[in-house]
Amino acid sequence: MSYFKEIYYGGLSLIEGLIVTGRRLFQPLVTVQYPRKKIPLSSAFRGHIELKIFEDSGTHKCIVCMSCEKNCPSGVISVQGVKQKEKGPKTLTDYVIDFSKCSLCGICVEICPTATLQYSREYELVGVTQADCRFDLLARLKKQVEQKEYEKNKQGKAA
Ligand code: SF4
Ligand code: SF4
Repeated sequence: MSYFKEIYYGGLSLIEGLIVTGRRLFQPLVTVQYPRKKIPLSSAFRGHIELKIFEDSGTHKCIVCMSCEKNCPSGVISVQGVKQKEKGPKTLTDYVIDFSKCSLCGICVEICPTATLQYSREYELVGVTQADCRFDLLARLKKQVEQKEYEKNKQGKAA
């Protein structure tokens, strides 16, 4: 390409770019200044799975049936429980997922007989090793319960 042709096409592309920029200047913004500003998450957003807290019991309703662990196609769920009484139901003692391999297929959420699994709204996860993607869902639930209690007490004091 000759020198003058290059200048011509370069100028043309510059003008085209400026026209696009100029047009966008007068259109509503579609981006926000994250992380200073955040937009509401879509209801369809899927974060990693987590144990749901039920209002009536104040905790999860996992019965340690192992369905989620057995049916997870990625084999990333590990559930453990103990029997308090010989003939009684099991109590959940450990619920760990390896989110680095989870495909978010949703089978565990759909299959849970007590509907105690849900998708978290978490989207600001960071980690530098695979171990950082292993989540202890029971510990996470305990933290959430504590946080809820704290907020309830705070509201009670403020009222
Ligand atoms: S969403 Fe799918 S891949 Fe992820 S833990 Fe549940 S069953 Fe396994
Ligand atoms: S399927 Fe539901 S009730 Fe059964 S072990 Fe998993 S979380 Fe617990």
